[in-house]
Amino acid sequence: MSGKKDNVESQSVAIIGGGVIGMSTAFHLAEKGVSKITVIDKGYIGGGSSLQAAGIVTSLEWNETAIRARVKTLDNFERFSQILDGYSFHQVGCLNLLSEEDYIGDKDLRDLQIKLGSKVEILQGGKLSDKFKDVVAAPNEYGVLDLRGGYSEPHRYVPALKNKIEKMGVDIREHEEVVGFDLQGAQIKGIVTRSSVNQKETKEKFDIVICAVNAWINHLLSWVDFQIPMKNFIHERFVTKPFETKLNLPAINDRVVEGYIRPTEDNRLLVGTDAYNPENFIMPNQQFTVDQLTPDPRALPFLRERFRSRVPVIESAVWDYHTVGLISITRDATPVIGPMPGIDGLFVGSNFHSGGFAYNPVAGQLIAEHVVDGETSIDSERYLPQRFIGFDTKSYLQNSMTIDDMKFKRH
Ligand SMILES: Cc1cc2nc3c(=O)[nH]c(=O)nc-3n(C[C@H](O)[C@H](O)[C@H](O)COP(=O)(O)OP(=O)(O)OC[C@H]3O[C@@H](n4cnc5c(N)ncnc54)[C@H](O)[C@@H]3O)c2cc1C
Repeated sequence: MSGKKDNVESQSVAIIGGGVIGMSTAFHLAEKGVSKITVIDKGYIGGGSSLQAAGIVTSLEWNETAIRARVKTLDNFERFSQILDGYSFHQVGCLNLLSEEDYIGDKDLRDLQIKLGSKVEILQGGKLSDKFKDVVAAPNEYGVLDLRGGYSEPHRYVPALKNKIEKMGVDIREHEEVVGFDLQGAQIKGIVTRSSVNQKETKEKFDIVICAVNAWINHLLSWVDFQIPMKNFIHERFVTKPFETKLNLPAINDRVVEGYIRPTEDNRLLVGTDAYNPENFIMPNQQFTVDQLTPDPRALPFLRERFRSRVPVIESAVWDYHTVGLISITRDATPVIGPMPGIDGLFVGSNFHSGGFAYNPVAGQLIAEHVVDGETSIDSERYLPQRFIGFDTKSYLQNSMTIDDMKFKRH
């Protein structure tokens, strides 16, 4: 599996899914010299969960692979901030807020994060308000501030990345659904697409096919008789109207409050949680789109109540709009990135939990490395789809689950 592949640069690549993962993959492939890249989406670019994301990014992950990956993602976001027109990475810091018990329990993990390159500042209780006037914490609560973390506005990032890859020569096709693979034995030969205009199906040749469809992945993999043990969950976020006084807070993942909150580039507050919609969501069919989801009306009062003492300015908020999408979680709460076992030329990048936005720059890089170099620049074995071989995925998929049943680690 390792070692540079012959002439990959001249081969044709189809990327199914035009979310942030598919587009980032296109970017990195183009940068590596691959010249024939097509991104195909059944809807519009970013219209899956990518435009719904809160866009919070941190490297404070919970295992070595993920920390190394996220440090690379921060390198990439800093670079993208320079090279994507109309996009800025808001490096306001990303604060993990913890109870004393969790803070003490996470000590070894924190040491690992720092050893692997995370830049961290610890702020306890009142020290948090000294640094961020809109944040209040009890004396026995701890903030672990990822100094290189922050957020992106998805509505800026998605079009900026789209423009960039188009300029790099990537062909982008929207409103076209992929409805099958063209396989010759165990070798991918192309895909079958269906036009949304006349429903006509067309077989198209591609040397390499990359599935970047996240929540929809098992529909595609059913064509090669492979399934990922995963569950989808509805996830929603809410945004206020702009405040008159300048807000002063970082992006916050709050483990005490069970939600996240961040400022926006135009001085609003954005809050989200998955405490509502705990049951896993069954996607009715491959044609499903996230526009069909509605947010749970109980989520906003819950968030306002929870964040009232953390970010008191929320009391005076005027609420403006919400977005809702899907997060997709594997049984080990770890993304799937790499070649599909047993099928030559087929690759997957999916199931990024609640962290696909944060992962996208490095995930695209790792997928491009798999395709072009046959190996990745960090040890990413943990992400390979082959880890599920031998697991009873069929039973796993049949069982209903709540988000609390999942090995839950926020990304
Ligand atoms: C409310 C909310 C808040 C979130 N907040 C954060 C956050 O703060 N930080 C973070 O890192 N992550 C966050 N996430 C998660 C993040 O949004 C996702 O992990 C990420 O967007 C996944 O990107 P993707 O490109 O893999 O998938 P998607 O953006 O869902 O794209 C998949 C695309 O595949 C297309 N597709 C599917 N089937 C086919 C087919 N057969 N043919 C052609 N196209 C097809 C779909 O139309 C879709 O556009 C949040 C998610 C939600 C819902």
